[in-house]
Parts: sequence; C-alpha cells; structure tokens
Amino acid sequence: MVRTRRTPAGARLTATATALTCVVALLTAGCTGDDSDGFRPGAADAGDPYVPGHGNGGYDVTHYGLDVRYDPPTDRLTGRAVITATATQDLSRFNLDLVGLDVATVRVGDAPADHRRGNGELVVTPRDGLPRGRQFTVTVDYAGVPTAVEDGSLGSGGFLHTADGAVALGQPDSAATWFPVNDHPSDKASYDLAVTVPDGLAALSNGVPGPKSSADGWTTWRWSERTPMASYLSTLVIGDYRVVTGTHAGRPMVTAVAASLPATGAAASSLARTGEIVDFLASRFGPYPFDSYGGIVIADDRIGYALETQSRPVYGPAFFADDRPNPGVVAHELAHQWFGDSVSLTRWGDIWLNEGFASYAEWLWEEHDGGRTAQRNFELQYAKTDWSQPSVEPGRELMFGTAVYKRGALTVHALRRTVGDDAFFRILRTWTAERATGNATTADLVTLAERVAGRQLRPLFDAWLVGGSAPTLP
Ligand SMILES: [Zn+2]
Repeated sequence: MVRTRRTPAGARLTATATALTCVVALLTAGCTGDDSDGFRPGAADAGDPYVPGHGNGGYDVTHYGLDVRYDPPTDRLTGRAVITATATQDLSRFNLDLVGLDVATVRVGDAPADHRRGNGELVVTPRDGLPRGRQFTVTVDYAGVPTAVEDGSLGSGGFLHTADGAVALGQPDSAATWFPVNDHPSDKASYDLAVTVPDGLAALSNGVPGPKSSADGWTTWRWSERTPMASYLSTLVIGDYRVVTGTHAGRPMVTAVAASLPATGAAASSLARTGEIVDFLASRFGPYPFDSYGGIVIADDRIGYALETQSRPVYGPAFFADDRPNPGVVAHELAHQWFGDSVSLTRWGDIWLNEGFASYAEWLWEEHDGGRTAQRNFELQYAKTDWSQPSVEPGRELMFGTAVYKRGALTVHALRRTVGDDAFFRILRTWTAERATGNATTADLVTLAERVAGRQLRPLFDAWLVGGSAPTLP
C-alpha cells in the first residue's frame, strides 16, 4: 500500500490511552474536554484489518452531493462535497477519508468547523457536538492535483491522469483520492455528481444521466445514483469517448468506448451485449437492482482489470486484446451488480461473496451462450484447486486470489448440486431480494441458505470454503 496510515491496533491503543487519561483526570479534577458530556470522537477507522485506516466511525452517510471540475492540461481538480450523515453516537469530532488534495473550508450545517489533515484523514471538529441520531451536513471545499494509488498486488487505482483526461477507479479503495468519503463498503449512500470538464470531453460516472449544460468552454455532466452505493463502486471517467445513450427495459443504458479503440471492434461488440447478458442474469438472480445500465471500456493499459462500478462497470483494454470478443468479463462484472453492489460486503475478508458468485456467473453465461457447461467447468476447476488456500479470510495479499474466485465458484456449484436447482435458485433470489441495497456476511448466507433449503448446510460451506483438503463431490 502506498498509504501509511494508523493501524486498527494502533487506533485501539490510542483510544485506550485516552480513556486511561480520562480516568486519571476523573479521579483528580474531573474529566474535561471531549468526554466531559459523553461526547467523544468517532473512530478513525472502520476496524477492517484488510484496509487499515479506511472508513470511519460515529456516523452513517446517506448521501454525497459532489460538484467537481477537472482540467486535464493542469491535472487540477476543484471540488465541493456536501455530505449528509447521521450521528450514530454522541459525536465530538469525526473523520473523513481524503488522500492528497488541499481543503479550504469545512462547514457542519451552516457553521464553520475546525479541520486538520494527516495520514489520508480529514478530521472535522464541529463547533457544537452532534448528538446521536442527529442528521447533519458537512460541506467540504477542496482542490489540488489528485493522486493514484499504487499497490503491488492490486495494480493501479485511485485517480489516474490519462492521455485524454482521467480515470478514478479501484478496489478496495479509490474514492478518497477525489472526494472526502467514509471509504468502506459498510457505509453505503446515494450520490449526485456534477462534473465539469472542457467542452468536447465526456465525463462518465454511475447511475442515471442528468441534463448537461455548457458555458465558457466548459461542459457540466450530471449523474445520479439513487440506490445506496459502496464508495469503491463509484467511478469517474473523463476523456474522448464514443458514448451511446439509449434505454433498456425502460431504464437508461449508457455505454462508452474510448475513441482510440476500434469503433466496431471486440470491446464495442462485447459491451453491446450488456442488455442481453443482464437479462439472462436477471432470469437466474432476480430483478436487476438498479435504475440504469451500461459499461465503459477505457484505453489506458495501467488499468489491467475490470471493476463492477455500480450500474456501469469499467473494463480495462486488455480484456479485448487481439480484438477477441469477451462477453465472459461482461457477465462477471454484471453479476456483481447483484453480488457485491446491491448485496455488499460488511468486511473485506468475505470478498468471496462477491467474486465466487461473479465467477460462477461466468460459468452460467458460458453454458447459456453455447459453450462449456457449468458442471464441466466445475469438474475442471475442482481437479486443479489448491485446497490449502481458504476462500474466507484469504489474507490481504490474496484477497484477489484464486481461492476467492475459483474456489468460491466451486462452493456455489457444490451448493447447487447438494440442494438441487429449484432450491439453489430460490436461495440466490431470496438472498438478492432480502439483502438488496444492504450488507451481509458469509454467516448470513449460510443461515439464509439453511432456512430456504430447510436443511443443515454449514458443514458443506465449511468444507468447500475453508477445509484443508479436497471435499467429497456432491
Ligand atoms: Zn469480480
């Protein structure tokens, strides 16, 4: 990780030290300051060991209103974020995640608030404490040259300046490089984005497109994602793109391919199957969870991955190398709209809940599209799986490893073989319905699967997800 941030353990130590100081103070002259009236600082961290320093505590964000301007020649971004949140404790101060960028002013409600920076954090102290349950707005004016996130195991992410504009993208983190945010999937929120770029460039993001307006050589693009979204699923893609706007199933469909890629090549033809693939997946997983569709293919080779950015996945150019069509990657990213985007992780150690199901969706799609059956893919994968690597809690370095993706997909198919097709697809559709727009854990899935199937399934999940040797074939 590029960032050096305080670890959760460090945060706990600091909190303990503060509490001890306070006890000592109480014994002598009374405990003054933050704790005197029960108000205390929100945690500087979501407590997720896979992403130390990310996320925060003490409040829950419901909405981000973002207004940003980006000038490619200077790589300078100017922004205002209006964040609507509710205090979940009596809050004396709270943190937002923000990497780089200079903060000019912060207001809580109408009142100026004290703020300081450090280690990817923006620490905000409102003039008055925020009682638990109080809804409040934070307005942050900021500007600067945004930074990328370089991580050896995960590739480039964050805000990347490209040949014709910029791309903000990345998992598990990227959002904090272009706006102040509670940067952990456990705090989902709706978004409105207005992004102003020089005339002639596209500025693409998540959700439903709003009206565009132009003035003085600049064009403002507007996007609205009304269904709660995890921050890593937000994206901003600026540049020279062929944008196709239409509708699918009565909802906006916006696809875009970098203008430097062939107009009728594999990227464009694969992306054009988005509607067909999403309809197939909906027939298996239940209704599509969002109010818009789409996808974006970028041309920058530094993005060696595709990401399921909500309602509009972003695909790196390598997936369409040698002009080979690749509907499989489209099926994978679209499957995430149910598994990961609508039903999101509570903590990153359960990332197989995203990747196992998305990988399994590739098998379902391949069979539907006239290729290998899911059963055959299962058999081939089973034969070459290293059972020493667990799918659950794979460790930070292997959070995008084979055990998360392929062993996860094996587990999904083993469940199907065990309970039968009828119960299996009822489990999937019940999961995506009951957990829609929320967060969940592996334990939640096991409980739900046992309830829907009416039988004990924990030993099956344990053997297929984390057992140290090849499980017996169902
Ligand atoms: Zn995936």
